[in-house]
Amino acid sequence: MIDTLRLTAEEAIGLVERGEVSPAELHAAYLDAIADRDPELHAYLHTQPEPSGTSIPIALKDVISTKGVETTAGSKILAGYVPVFDATVAARAKAAGLSLLGKTNTDEFAMGSSTENSAFGPSRNPWDPERVPGGSGGGSAAAVAAGLAPWALGSDTGGSIKQPAALCGNVGLRPTYGTVSRYGVVAFASSLDQVGPVARTVRDCALLYSIIAGRDPADTTTVELPQPVALPDAEDLKGLRIGVPRELNEAEGIEPGVTDAVRAAIDLAQELGAEVEECSLPRSVEYGMPCYYLIAPAEASSNLARYDGVRYGPREDGATYREMVERTRDAGFGDEPKRRIMVGTYALSAGYYDAFYGQAQKVRTIIIREHAELFERFDLLVSPTSPTVAFKVGERAANPLAMYLSDLLTIPSCLAGLPGLNLPCGLSDGLPVGLQLIGPQFAENRVFRAAHALERALGFDPVPTRLR
Ligand code: GLN
Repeated sequence: MIDTLRLTAEEAIGLVERGEVSPAELHAAYLDAIADRDPELHAYLHTQPEPSGTSIPIALKDVISTKGVETTAGSKILAGYVPVFDATVAARAKAAGLSLLGKTNTDEFAMGSSTENSAFGPSRNPWDPERVPGGSGGGSAAAVAAGLAPWALGSDTGGSIKQPAALCGNVGLRPTYGTVSRYGVVAFASSLDQVGPVARTVRDCALLYSIIAGRDPADTTTVELPQPVALPDAEDLKGLRIGVPRELNEAEGIEPGVTDAVRAAIDLAQELGAEVEECSLPRSVEYGMPCYYLIAPAEASSNLARYDGVRYGPREDGATYREMVERTRDAGFGDEPKRRIMVGTYALSAGYYDAFYGQAQKVRTIIIREHAELFERFDLLVSPTSPTVAFKVGERAANPLAMYLSDLLTIPSCLAGLPGLNLPCGLSDGLPVGLQLIGPQFAENRVFRAAHALERALGFDPVPTRLR
């Protein structure tokens, strides 16, 4: 019997390499778990009946193009769209022998923090199915947490890897902007989008990052990693200077249970040898949200212009080309993409461009500088990943602003292009709390090292209590 709930990717690879389990047996074990638990969780939009590789399986968020396998980005406007090529990250997973297990649910075009914006219905949190798994990558996070995949890829624009990882109790990395190819990834906001791993352990997360990272000639924003990925094995944090930005740790709306668990993890970091000191990001948190909610919709409005009923997906009839496009877009997009297209188009329009988009870019530069200054004194910054534990399905769905606040603490470092990792650090009311570790650009190895040492010391059990 393969216990998919407990198996790490590293252990699964070991089983396959030693010939103790075949890729087909492993694939079948995950499909069994999916048949058992996914009707309740709806982490997957689609599964693959047979393994295609020589190693272990992987789940991919449905914004990642997969050759011959439907890719919808959680939108009706892409229903039935079957890419004729693999995204670079999917191709790299394939080249490493990984088998596609399935495509995971996402908020439509990765816009959301709960997966409730998926056109195909919400996913649910394995710790409590009345609650959301976070978003937009709630499908990948729920799948990994419930033992429905050994690991997965997500995409993160303003928090869509880190926040679901926090709500589902897994390790999720949003990599440094430019280290992972966006080629073949359904575009949301191109200056922010990054693909990254979702896993059960920090080592699995590092291993998967090593598979997908590095320069891709098909995405000119990518670079070669300055140093190869090192699988972490450190047990202490000696010599590490950790900054605790006040504004990220004391922001309004952070639940007391979240603060307590994060505080305890920071104290533990100190016991493990880190030097911990309070610091400040005075403008990044205050202006991060408004800056993000101009830049991301502006870029989205441009990226989503391609869905015109001609090139992708279903088409509505119309007497003229214009009418056909209007009807197709009206029927195909849900409320959230429509909202963002309208905000973004407005922010980019002549006469308002400087006041909104131009101004937001200046603010973004200030946010980048503020982080860079702190990294002259600190090796890492820490904070809660999400202000709250998983919230109830429906609780924020009708209030876009309440939903947007889910990413208050993840957005600033995303705007600054920095790597950030969610490490589960405890429970509050029986639900996972996530610690966010932020590093300077290209410092993934340092983030992994610290997260691994803390993970060992924390001893968090990633298996949802009700499934143990
Ligand atoms: N929740 C944020 C948004 O709705 C971030 C989403 C993401 O990172 N894709 O834009």
